[in-house]
Amino acid sequence: MSEQRWLTETAFANMRLSFEVTRVLQADHSPQQRIDLIENPLFGKVLMLDGATQVTSADEFIYHEMMAHVPILAHGAVRDVLIVGGGDCGLAEEVLKHAGITRVMQVEIDAQVVEFARSHFAEFNAAAFADPRFTIEIADGADFVGTTDQRFDVILVDSTDPIGAGAVLFTKNFYAGLRRCLRPGGIVVTQSGVPFVQRDEFTTAIRNLARVFPVAECYVLATPSYAGGHMALGWGSLDRDPCDPPLEILAERASTLATRYYTSEVHRAAFALPRYILDAKIAAIAADR
Ligand code: SAM
Repeated sequence: MSEQRWLTETAFANMRLSFEVTRVLQADHSPQQRIDLIENPLFGKVLMLDGATQVTSADEFIYHEMMAHVPILAHGAVRDVLIVGGGDCGLAEEVLKHAGITRVMQVEIDAQVVEFARSHFAEFNAAAFADPRFTIEIADGADFVGTTDQRFDVILVDSTDPIGAGAVLFTKNFYAGLRRCLRPGGIVVTQSGVPFVQRDEFTTAIRNLARVFPVAECYVLATPSYAGGHMALGWGSLDRDPCDPPLEILAERASTLATRYYTSEVHRAAFALPRYILDAKIAAIAADR
């Protein structure tokens, strides 16, 4: 009888999540990080970087739809989008569903992640690679936002957790760089961890967002492969309250969008935080005052 194999996520200090492995597609090191790509009967292909789950073919739509459509539909007139990180390019696919968007630039540090995501996750990223509005620059996202003259309406930080190359993407300096690249009325959304199991990651992200942006909020989503409860996405803006616009306008803007998780009601409800997350957010911001 063949031995059943498991790939174990090692991202959390006190918890382990294991995926049954039916096939190993890649087990490798890029210059930046360890890369594991396996197949699982429930999740399809599962990508881990440095032992942290990044994306699975079965549930990627949840995180990508919520990261893309919430700020884009709230803004209502987005033309230029910057993605920082986002190596698997599933987020770009969601962003490019918006016909009014003229340019999506992605700044990703690891060319190897992009290359094998292109070979192995074509089911959700082929449309992005075929779209002339989409470009990728291989660079450190923090360097880019600290130096570029380009400006964007929405910036999405689809980062790894704050270890290795991803650590800089949770700092106050990086968020200040995002602010300088944002047009008036612009919105930043950041991967801010799973508050129950990554409380420090969540509070650091929210505290640093609040140090830089007058409007610093967060919203939540539930993705099976990011275990440990709700995942939080940070929201930073100079002037955009996440309670705007009214639900009817969101619904009208979303009326032609094909989604599997996002609805205008889910959009609005995502900002209603469970009490333990709300308390952690308030404490993170209050610590500076
Ligand atoms: N959705 C995933 C999650 O929440 O776990 C993240 C997916 S995406 C694969 C994360 C990407 O961020 C990786 O491809 C990684 O190479 C990239 N990344 C990490 N640090 C970076 C940096 N400093 N600049 C640009 N990209 C970075």
